[in-house]
Amino acid sequence: MITIKSAREIETMAAAGRIVAATLALVARHVHPGVSTAELDRLAEEFIRSHPGARPSFKGLYDFPATLCTSINQEVVHGIPSRERVLRAGDVLSVDVGVWLEGLHADSAATFPVGDVGDEARRLLRVTQEALAAGIAQARAGQHVGDIGHAVQQVAEGAGYSVVRELVGHGIGASFHEEPQVPNYGKPKRGPRIVSGMTLAIEPMVNVGGPEIRTLDDKWTVVTQDGSLSAHFEHTVAILENGGPPRILTTAN
Ligand code: MG
Ligand code: MG
Repeated sequence: MITIKSAREIETMAAAGRIVAATLALVARHVHPGVSTAELDRLAEEFIRSHPGARPSFKGLYDFPATLCTSINQEVVHGIPSRERVLRAGDVLSVDVGVWLEGLHADSAATFPVGDVGDEARRLLRVTQEALAAGIAQARAGQHVGDIGHAVQQVAEGAGYSVVRELVGHGIGASFHEEPQVPNYGKPKRGPRIVSGMTLAIEPMVNVGGPEIRTLDDKWTVVTQDGSLSAHFEHTVAILENGGPPRILTTAN
């Protein structure tokens, strides 16, 4: 079932989203060679819990053990923070974080360069951000979910990259994962119709190589099958009544 949020619920999700954005900004300031992903996770959890009524969405969700998903290089998503995973110059680090506040969730992700990274990594990060922006631009009342995926896919594949298909964006609200699913591929005018009051997490996962993925023995970490670099950017948005571009809830303002 697709849930429609009231104006008040959207304000609560925006408040959760501001904490999410501030958490990602805090993590970004600590992304340096020599820092472990466990250290980033500790900082993020402490920061989120410093806000009254807020808690990390991921910790305990499907038994995930941490506040952040931290995924390095060929890791696509769902990497588990660890003291043994120390960032090195040239890595790219995808950080995914959710915050629950007063009964509602917000969800965002970004991929950060660690020190100096190569041209391919820089281009991948730029293209994935552009793919997210193109998807968000389609998230308007009267459009269809397929319009979002189509826009994301056009940008990513137009740059010679591929989009992950097994993992998708999603509705979000009182439950972290709600309907509809929001694939990063699709056909215009297909899929559920988008209406005002829907809140969606749009999250392209873009690979330099092929779209195929597999899950490591830790049962969480998803990696590219061919070992190529992967990037992930995500925002939670609210669909507006006027048919214009959505309100991005996971920002500082
Ligand atoms: Mg996320
Ligand atoms: Mg998500």
